[in-house]
Amino acid sequence: PMGKRYAVFGTPISHSQSPRIHAAFARQTGIELDYVSIEAGHDDFAAKLAASGAQGANVTLPLKEDAFALCRETSERARRAGAVNTLIRDGDGWRGDNTDGLGLVRDLTERHGLDLRERRVLLLGAGGAARGVAPALLDAGISALFVVNRTPERADALADAMGEPGRVHARGWDALPALGEFDLLVNATSATRGGALPPLPMALAGLRSAAVDLSYGEAAVAFLAWARAAGCTHAMDGLGMLVEQAAESFLLWHGVRPETDPVYAALNGQGDALVTA
Ligand code: NDP
Repeated sequence: PMGKRYAVFGTPISHSQSPRIHAAFARQTGIELDYVSIEAGHDDFAAKLAASGAQGANVTLPLKEDAFALCRETSERARRAGAVNTLIRDGDGWRGDNTDGLGLVRDLTERHGLDLRERRVLLLGAGGAARGVAPALLDAGISALFVVNRTPERADALADAMGEPGRVHARGWDALPALGEFDLLVNATSATRGGALPPLPMALAGLRSAAVDLSYGEAAVAFLAWARAAGCTHAMDGLGMLVEQAAESFLLWHGVRPETDPVYAALNGQGDALVTA
């Protein structure tokens, strides 16, 4: 292959859609590149990254904090998240950014037409994905963010890191019945992989509520079925976020933001199949 090399690192990585997405963006914009997936864990990530010859990289589970730690420079949004999903080569080192949160916000506001301003938001989970999206939701102008996590200390830590005690609140799972109705519910847990989600009170959602699961496909089915049963008008999986965060990474590397709608449609089984080069 010609052109510059890019890669996504994580475990497991074989199911990653990122190589297909970036190949589609490359064809669309006429930029020559080669984007591969590389299996790596905490122990071998740094060595594999160095050996890859990549000009840029995406980083997924469980390496976003490892990536943060090896950057010589990080963006403000990456520092607020404490996690890096996008590495940009800088001489013999790396700059780190995090496009997950903006990816989610763009999917919700531009693809699905939601207005996030003054909205009351429930964030389930306090892991890497939750930390990535919380700052972007706050920047989008929501009125309140309730972070609810199985391990309450992690919810506390996330809320503290946002530095906005008036707008961000941490709660344990047992507090859910008392929280009232939310405009937007975000499932940022990895439940279904790590066991079923505990039962959610129907009163959390109503006819004006929207729900999004950051996972996609089979992993998102249970939460989205609950959301529809609870009356949510929008129930979306994380495929849109995945494509949007990829487009933001592409913009950082190549200086051009690709069209995301055709790629989203293809991954969603609606548009033309993505040609695999
Ligand atoms: P982490 O492992 O960092 O965090 C997992 C979170 O899920 C923790 O808050 C954990 O709670 C919670 N959790 C796990 N199992 C259960 C359960 N049975 N009941 C309740 N809570 C549970 O994972 P990530 O944050 O990196 O990823 C979360 C999800 O987001 C994944 O499905 C991932 O695929 C998706 N994602 C999607 C992206 C996209 O572009 N669409 C981008 C990034 C992630 P506790 O702290 O108590 O262990």
